[in-house]
Amino acid sequence: MNGTVVMAEMPEMTKTPESDALRTLHRVFGYDSFRGEQEAVIEHVVAGGDAVVLMPTGGGKSLCYQIPALVRPGTGIVVSPLIALMQDQVDALRALGVRAGFMNSTQDFDERRVVEAEFLAGELDLLYLAPERLRLDSTLDLIGRAKISVFAIDEAHCVAQWGHDFRPDYLALSLLGERWPEVPRIALTATATHATHREITQRLGMPQARHFEASFDRPNIQYRIVPKDDPKKQLLRFLKDEHAGDAGIIYCLSRNSVEKTAEFLCKNGIEAVPYHAGLDAGTRARHQSRFLREEGLVVVATIAFGMGIDKPDVRFVAHLDLPKSVEGYYQETGRAGRDGQPSTAWMAYGLNDVVQQRKLIQMGEGDEAFRRRAASHLDAMLALCETVECRRGQLLAYFGQEPGAEGCGNCDTCLTRPETWDGTVAAQKVLSTVVRLDRERRQKFGTLQIVDILLGKRSAKVIQFDHDQLSVFGIGQELSEAEWRGVVRQLLAQGLLAVEGEYGTLVLTEQSASVLGRQREVHLRKEPKKVASARGSAGKGSGSGKSKVAVDLPEEMLPLFEALRAWRAEQAREQGVPAYVIFHDATLKEIVLAGPSSVAELGEIGGVGEKKLATYGEGVLGVLEEFAGAEE
Ligand code: ADP
Ligand code: ZN
Repeated sequence: MNGTVVMAEMPEMTKTPESDALRTLHRVFGYDSFRGEQEAVIEHVVAGGDAVVLMPTGGGKSLCYQIPALVRPGTGIVVSPLIALMQDQVDALRALGVRAGFMNSTQDFDERRVVEAEFLAGELDLLYLAPERLRLDSTLDLIGRAKISVFAIDEAHCVAQWGHDFRPDYLALSLLGERWPEVPRIALTATATHATHREITQRLGMPQARHFEASFDRPNIQYRIVPKDDPKKQLLRFLKDEHAGDAGIIYCLSRNSVEKTAEFLCKNGIEAVPYHAGLDAGTRARHQSRFLREEGLVVVATIAFGMGIDKPDVRFVAHLDLPKSVEGYYQETGRAGRDGQPSTAWMAYGLNDVVQQRKLIQMGEGDEAFRRRAASHLDAMLALCETVECRRGQLLAYFGQEPGAEGCGNCDTCLTRPETWDGTVAAQKVLSTVVRLDRERRQKFGTLQIVDILLGKRSAKVIQFDHDQLSVFGIGQELSEAEWRGVVRQLLAQGLLAVEGEYGTLVLTEQSASVLGRQREVHLRKEPKKVASARGSAGKGSGSGKSKVAVDLPEEMLPLFEALRAWRAEQAREQGVPAYVIFHDATLKEIVLAGPSSVAELGEIGGVGEKKLATYGEGVLGVLEEFAGAEE
């Protein structure tokens, strides 16, 4: 939250002469002021310095290299692994009047020739390239024949060999500094760990670069983690109550559950498409493109979806399965709300998630060190799930950043403080049962059997193994089945219980003894009953048609907002670009609130730069006039 809401008294500052960077920000992008670290980064790079920039998704990394490329003489070269998105990035820039182009394998020879010619003629402000293309001798020769303003290395964590997005071609990028020492380089990433940061600096050969680290807080995202009970139904209720008609991403672990979930949503009136590595490339490209172009489409995906998707109006990210690490969770949830508008990160999490993930690590490939690392990543993720403290505070602390003192007020634990209870006795009961079953040695048992025994349930399997004869049979009637499962889950999360083998058999850990021996208390989190919703008045948008979007505008202004959206959709269709390339929702909202009556007034709105004003000014004013006429 620190540093994002500055500049409230801008008029004071207009007395000092504007820098080239600030002028470009106004003229091209239509924004008033820089955000957070942007100004410092841009100033440094414009002056010719190298920079390594760590900024969360939605923090505004693009401007950090786009503005230097516009201000400095020559063409800015942008290295990005996201070939499928280059066309959209370039379209968005062209809509702003920026002379941008790209070269990648999706083009044929002639198309590439055109771009080359533009580049050599000095007619490009920005040129996007994939790393595998950049390292070709022919490309390097081409670059050598024109003036370069800046090298931007986007998604720079791809150079980190132990990271999940490693691209070998990134390793070759260190040659840029050797061959063009006078051209500033800027490496950017949203991956937050310091280890990755160090690796970027080292492997790209940028020891003298200045480091910029923005706050990783995303205050507009509401974090919520709910106990999983009937996940599909919970998801449906969440979507219908709070995000009817909104675009969003739902992450599942397996391809199968991706397919099933997408099907389930479609059956229930929510337009959803699947996305995973098992689909053919054509289908994946089509679904991604629909997500970018259509409004209110839901994508159900494995983690294969999302990197570099810069759709600004993703209103929610939901997890139906537990992510493997806090880094992964943060990156995925970060895809919500790039435009700064209220958004939700929602996750359903339960006992099976813990059992399954622990099993995966145990049975998975890799050596002991790898397994230990995976386990510690999972432990951190579980700690976030089970915390009774502010979730945002935990996230920030995980990334080594200072959390606010009082709690954020915009996560589930802040909104409804979870209660804790002394679960020592309950834990002892579970652990004693595990001990008794372990003694039998004949067969291993999972949670189900243990809970049945505690509750005194004579299930077929309990009778089969004479477990109703155990001294622990029926000693746990004070809790419900769901509560016992909650206890087991939390014991697993706290490392007081472990799972073993293919069937997820529960076994003791080294630390279990201290609980059984009463040397240690166990504090557990009471399962919350109900959580407040993101937009206060939940249910406002529920049950209604698809197009009705929950947006925080006064009720009477919604029709005008809808009219502008309809106009925008038509423009987008005509030009074959995503709607947000025309104007962001935030811009439309500001137009509705300000009600500009002239081109000059419209130009004052955030997100309306010179080119957009010229292209769309008349159109927008036309919609406003027509609307005012109809109102009278
Ligand atoms: P990142 O690449 O870091 O995820 P982007 O560069 O896509 O973030 O920016 C996120 C959003 O914020 C975009 O919609 C962009 O237009 C907007 N934005 C960036 N900088 C500013 C600014 N100074 N003022 C207003 N909006 C901004
Ligand atoms: Zn909080």
